[in-house]
Amino acid sequence: MTNPSILILPGDGIGPEVMTEVRKVIGWFADKRGLAFDVSEDLVGGAAYDAHGTPLHDDTMAKALEVDAVLLGAVGGPKYDDLDFSVKPERGLLRLRKEMDLFSNLRPAQCFDALADFSSLKKDIIAGLDIMIVRELTSGVYFGEPRGIMDDNEGGRVGINTQRYTTEEIRRVARSAFELAKRRGNKVCSMEKANVMESGILWREEVQWVHDNEYPDVELSHMYADAGAMQLVRWPKQFDVIVTDNLFGDLLSDCAAMLTGSLGMLPSASLGAPMENGRPKALYEPVHGSAPDITGQGKANPIACILSFAMALRYSFDQGDEATRLETAIETVLADGHRTADLIGEEGRAPISTAEMGDAIVAALENSL
Ligand code: NAD
Repeated sequence: MTNPSILILPGDGIGPEVMTEVRKVIGWFADKRGLAFDVSEDLVGGAAYDAHGTPLHDDTMAKALEVDAVLLGAVGGPKYDDLDFSVKPERGLLRLRKEMDLFSNLRPAQCFDALADFSSLKKDIIAGLDIMIVRELTSGVYFGEPRGIMDDNEGGRVGINTQRYTTEEIRRVARSAFELAKRRGNKVCSMEKANVMESGILWREEVQWVHDNEYPDVELSHMYADAGAMQLVRWPKQFDVIVTDNLFGDLLSDCAAMLTGSLGMLPSASLGAPMENGRPKALYEPVHGSAPDITGQGKANPIACILSFAMALRYSFDQGDEATRLETAIETVLADGHRTADLIGEEGRAPISTAEMGDAIVAALENSL
């Protein structure tokens, strides 16, 4: 039996700093839980451009398609702002998502009790929150044709984008949401605008079809996306899994993420079709960028990236209990008052460094045995 494989792409800015802490955690699981991974590392984004003149070398792309999971830090930075669009660091990330066909983007919004004061919402609305937004990532209005800016033949111009979804595109992301719900609270709420968009009517019908034919035991509800946005800030705990299209998912996942506080706390996963071994193609990454304003200062919060590894444990490696162990260790560290600079609120306590946060999490894992 070979070990499951992980390709680490630290990227730029704080990417390598937070990834160093993830490696400590991966090392701990290998040493203490017998969960050994074949870990390889490569370049992406500006770092790849500096070495190869391209933000993602073909060999790296080929490796990403072979491994069981890719773990990415962040890409970009001011040094690369003036590069041609075709070689900008972000193109490396977009190429990965496109060639791995990662159609299902998972964005959890989870509130650690110790950080409940960080939310802009009242503590009782947010404490204990644990919801998952599943966003369709490879189709919809960001990709539909026709698109462009053209003359309207009346002396003005017209801007066009097309919302387009096929049966299969909707069904596969719906399946991904139902599968997730089965491992969580067994509830899916599908959001669209079926009141004003035909693509929304199709979305609603196809999600319902997948439910009725394949997941009748999961509770399904439908909501218009605008009402869903209101409900997210009114009483977010009513939701378990929300599934929605690319455009609404873009907005709703950012809105839900901010319910819980800092960018430094937010993980994500992007999943594709199952590979031969049954695991989905998968890319795990924190939501935040390369944070050039704090790069190299030991200020970055590594938790978003470590939580992304927890998602990999759960969704790629079927190690839900170990993922929970890691999340609980993070909860403990926060409850004990450990804070990187981004998590310091009014109380003015002294921040700890990126490395100290990683060490504290490993120590909490050790205590969990
Ligand atoms: P950013 O997420 O890098 O930073 C926004 C703010 O949040 C900054 O003040 C930063 O210091 C802070 N922050 C972010 N992550 C943090 C962490 N882990 N710990 C503590 N503080 C953290 O967004 P930006 O400043 O708009 O973009 C900077 C660069 O990152 C740009 O080049 C942008 O294109 C790129 N970017 C990349 C990704 C990605 O790789 N997925 C995502 C967003 C932005």
